[in-house]
Parts: sequence; structure tokens; C-alpha cells
Amino acid sequence: MNTHTAAHDGHRTTQAAGIGSWGDPARAEEALALSAGGTPRNVILFVGDGLGEDELTIARNYLRGADGRLVLDGFLFTGTVTNYSVVPGDPTRHNYVTDSAAAATAWATGVKTYNGAIGVDAFGDPVPTLVELARERGMATGIVTTEELCDPTPAAMGAHVADRSGRGPDTMQRCPAQAAENGGPGSIAEQLVRTRPDVLLGGGAQYFRQTVRAGEFRGRTVLDQAAASYRLVTTAAQLAAADADAPLLGLFGEGALARAWVGPTARVDRGPAAVCRVNPDLPADQPTLARMTAKALEILERRAAGRGFLLQVEAGLIDTASHDGDPCGMISEVAAFDEAVSVGLRWADRHGDTLVLVTADHGHSAQIVPTDVESPGATAMLLAHDGEPMLINYATNLPGEILVHTGAQVRIAAHGPSAASVLGLGDQTDLFHLITRTWQEAHDRDGG
Ligand SMILES: [Zn+2]
Repeated sequence: MNTHTAAHDGHRTTQAAGIGSWGDPARAEEALALSAGGTPRNVILFVGDGLGEDELTIARNYLRGADGRLVLDGFLFTGTVTNYSVVPGDPTRHNYVTDSAAAATAWATGVKTYNGAIGVDAFGDPVPTLVELARERGMATGIVTTEELCDPTPAAMGAHVADRSGRGPDTMQRCPAQAAENGGPGSIAEQLVRTRPDVLLGGGAQYFRQTVRAGEFRGRTVLDQAAASYRLVTTAAQLAAADADAPLLGLFGEGALARAWVGPTARVDRGPAAVCRVNPDLPADQPTLARMTAKALEILERRAAGRGFLLQVEAGLIDTASHDGDPCGMISEVAAFDEAVSVGLRWADRHGDTLVLVTADHGHSAQIVPTDVESPGATAMLLAHDGEPMLINYATNLPGEILVHTGAQVRIAAHGPSAASVLGLGDQTDLFHLITRTWQEAHDRDGG
């Protein structure tokens, strides 16, 4: 039995036997042996955008009950990660609440930067990203998200713009130096296609339809530019049928993908405890994050041909649902994330040689509070898995305003070779150093 499944199932059996998760010595020993077992060839980095400890606990309570366990809970190596950003032009001054752009740039480049920065340092200068460095090593690379592909978490892996709004050729107003018409490298969409990871799957087709303004593809769309190196798919059926030998661009919506569940949103005069429902507007041909992850792994295994790969998979809608005070949208995205992580773990256990990392970029707006509290913010009440009401407080902004991120440290979890590296407290930039260190060790192991 593999370590992860042993840990996961072990919880229930040891719980039933009356010794609990931590009372079973075999549980930790197996994970320790796997962590010490050499250097990973492949790295799968799962990111829950805005998956703070409150969001995770809310999702567990709703999906499995307070004493239930998600796949996410089965990781034995866990640490915490600081995620502050810095002030533009002065990296010695700290900003205690990061955005997704500065956070993703931190692990993609190892450099602290300002909110809004994509693949550039605090002074606006481009810094090489993990995907670019992996490509230089001849590794295969992939980026998967339920958000727009030009959104910060995917973008920071393969683009460099001064501001996250520079998603397509038509939205470069805040990134004049990067605009193609000014001699720059172009928008995030143009740069992602040029960086050319083997797999790009997500939403945000609207930016790829915009017209390139200078250079080889002037007067044509970013999609035309992409067609030179990618096959394009736009539905779950096409994704499933896609050839695993060729680079694949999947664009499954004009904007972000749709949230799977809907339910009550937070308001000042909350109603009775409600349950979440399937989103009636969920497109039937929208692939799940798990399906996208499985396809990405199939392609990367083929294209890496033994040279290793780096795959980043983001559940992006935890964040957007939390900005909207939509707990059901948030919970369904954690469920989708859990399912995708399960796909990654099963792949890693079948193939070996793979480090699976799971983290978040920042905390978010939800808090579990007592059901009889009078919050000055907005709240939503859900009937959780145990049949008990769960009151969720959203008070990071005035009721009716967009809810914002929080500055709390977030979890990191790891499974596989080198997993023990994440123990204790680290910073998001340490992820960059961990991953590049494993590449160097693999290089040295393979004789240079
Ligand atoms: Zn956000």
C-alpha cells in the first residue's frame, strides 16, 4: 500500500482501533522512508488560490464533517509559509497582505515583489521563472488553472509584466514598457504562448482573441500565434481526445471557469442554514480540474521522455468565490482541488520519483464563528456534513464591498522524495529554492 493511501485510510482504521492518527507509529515511518528515498524527477505543485486554514476547515466541515478527512488532510509532511509582499521600488519595506501576483512570483522566481507584479522584482525587472528554467533544462512543463490563464498564478510562471492587468494586447495601459507596440515582449497571453509550456489549460479565451500589435504576428490574434506551436481544445470531450504527444492549449471559457456549486452569499441579515446546490449554469462541456490534471500528466509524461517535468495546478475559484462571500462556490472548488490532488498523488504513487506539493498563496476572508454571534460583517449559514449549522463570517470589508485577502501564513504539504523539506516555517520564496535544489540534485545524480 502506498504511503498516502496508508496515511489516509490509516486514519479511519487507527481511529476505530482507538489509537488515533498519531498513535500509529507505522504511519510516520512509511512517509519518512519515502521522503528520504532520493531526489524527485518530477514536481507537481498544487495551489489553492486563497485556501487559508479557515477556508480549508469550512470545506472539510461541509464536505466530510468535523472529524472527516479530505485527501488534502492525508499529507504527513506539512509546514507553514509566510506570504507577505514588498513595496514597489523598495524590497526592504514589507506589505503584510499579498495578492496572488506577488505570491506566485515569489515561488516562481525566488524573489519578493510588490502586489500586482508578474515575474518581475520590486524594481520591475524580469526574473527567470521555474517554467522558463525547467524548459532550459529540457524538462516538460505544464500550467493548469480554473481561472483565466492570464490570471496571476499561472501568469507568473511564464510571463513578465509590471502589472497583472496586462493580460492581453488590449489591456497594456498599466504596462507600457512591456507593450509589443513599444518594443516590449507583449502581454501575458503573448508571453505565455512564447514561453511555450507543453500544457496550458484554463479559462480566459477573451485575451487570446485580441490582436497582436507588433512583431511577427502583428495584425493576427494571440490564438493565431499559439496555433504555430499548440493544438487548441475548448471542451471537455476535446480535452479527453487530445493527442498526448503535442503541446496542448485548452481554453474552456471566455473568462474564469464556472463555479460548480451555488448557495447563499454572505449578507448582514442572514437566512436559515442552507445547503449548496449544483450551479444550474455550469457548462456541461467544462472539464473538471481533476480531468485537466490527468490530461496534463499524460502529456507531460510523454513529452518529458524521462527528463522530468514541472506541473503547476491551480484551483483559482476558492479566491474569487471568497472575494464574493460565496461559501458554496468556495467549497465546491476545494472539493475540485481535493479531487485533482488525489489524481496527482495516485500518479506519483504509480510512477515514483515525483514530489507532490500542495500550498496556497494567501489567506482569505472567511472565518468560522459561533452561530449565536452578531457580526458587524456579513455572514452566511450552511448546514454542514454533521447536520449542524456552521456560521461563516465575512468581515474583511464593509458589507456589500468586495471582500479582501488576509495576511495569515498558509499551509504547505508535501508527499514523495524530499517531502520532509517543507517541515517548519518557510517563506513562499523557499518553494523556488526547494524545487531548483531537487533539479540540481537530479542533475548531479545523473552524472551532470
Ligand atoms: Zn484574490
